[in-house]
Amino acid sequence: MRITHCWDCGRSDLNDAEHETCPACGWIICPTCGACTQFGCFSNTPVTSLYERQRYRKLWLELPADERPDAKNWVTIVYNRERKKKHEEELMALSRLDKILSDAQRCGVIHVAYGRGEIVSIERKSSFCTLHVSFENGKEADFLYPSSFTDGFLAVSTPRME
Ligand SMILES: [Zn+2]
Ligand SMILES: [Zn+2]
Repeated sequence: MRITHCWDCGRSDLNDAEHETCPACGWIICPTCGACTQFGCFSNTPVTSLYERQRYRKLWLELPADERPDAKNWVTIVYNRERKKKHEEELMALSRLDKILSDAQRCGVIHVAYGRGEIVSIERKSSFCTLHVSFENGKEADFLYPSSFTDGFLAVSTPRME
């Protein structure tokens, strides 16, 4: 029986009789933090939690054996892939919201309580902006964009037929 300690969390009773070994590197997988070999395999930073290490190991095992890249590089590959996807999704969400905003400027807005209004000005911050709206009933109000749209509080009005 092999007995060792975990290089990451320090757990000292790791043994191959009781604990699983990593199918990629052969080291005992620490049940507390999920680490296997140090500076390699699924223990690489930025993956540092038990859940993430299990997830990365599982993703690698799901690939057909002859398509698995070197497990040492796997964390970097998946991390970059997922970060890129997240970035693309953020850009798409932003362009969807930009479209809403330009429609709102063009067509005006409808508020659940105040009725129809026109966007008078837009003050941009990094990830949101404030819409200053003047309503037909004489009221004026500020709204945070995009939250005022995404929760349905403020809606883009349909263009008026001439
Ligand atoms: Zn550990
Ligand atoms: Zn490993």
